[in-house]
Amino acid sequence: MPTRTPLVAGNWKMNTDRAGAIALARAVVEGSEKHTPRVEVALYPPFVYLDAVGATLRESIPATKVTLGAQDVYHEKNGAFTGEISAAMLRDIGATSVLTGHSERRHVLHESDELIAKKTRAALDAGGGLRCILCIGETLDQRQAGQTDAVNERQLRSALTGLPTPLLAQLVIAYEPVWAIGTGKTATPADAQAAHHFIRALLNDLFGSSVAAATRILYGGSVKPDNARDLFSQPDIDGGLIGGASLNPADFVAIVAAADR
Ligand code: PEP
Repeated sequence: MPTRTPLVAGNWKMNTDRAGAIALARAVVEGSEKHTPRVEVALYPPFVYLDAVGATLRESIPATKVTLGAQDVYHEKNGAFTGEISAAMLRDIGATSVLTGHSERRHVLHESDELIAKKTRAALDAGGGLRCILCIGETLDQRQAGQTDAVNERQLRSALTGLPTPLLAQLVIAYEPVWAIGTGKTATPADAQAAHHFIRALLNDLFGSSVAAATRILYGGSVKPDNARDLFSQPDIDGGLIGGASLNPADFVAIVAAADR
């Protein structure tokens, strides 16, 4: 059975300014240094600060293992797509991963499963080792209607069906129940584990046991220093996608420490 290196990813959403982004990145680099041999750490600043945060990471002494990612990507390679950013552009400025299908893109910006599938494919196809964290998860209404597994299955199948298996090596899944994002409500470790187990079983059906065993599945939804350890100790939870707490370096580093097992 392969060991999956835990990953803790900080999604800064539409927060910080340039100076604040640089200071936050510096504090995370410094605080997580003793954990990064065993925990991967990635930061997802707003697009306009990617370059500045990338330079901060590149210039850190000693050289940091903290990596840079983008919160979204467009699926076309180039052309008349005002306001959009391609996977090649992200690679060009040093991003090594992207998020797709974040719940705010699905539910605030109304991205469809089809669009998210195209973005996920474009990210994985971009080459150069660009990785993709595909986010999935049910709303409160869907959970209360007993549809959690069905929603996760639909979102996962629509994004992944037809992908060539070798591309799966660059994929990470983030299970983020929508009702837990930014609300202070967290799935219990047992409920989160049940969803992760279901997702891993589905990966097994779609791509076989080695992909299922190797793919990291992160939990996201109000992860904080005081609940991270219990969540990360579940067998199918391989780290976290962190929103609010990633803006506070002490909290984020404490969550990184909780993943260092
Ligand atoms: C997120 O934005 O992916 C997230 C999980 O946010 P929060 O940690 O604030 O719930």
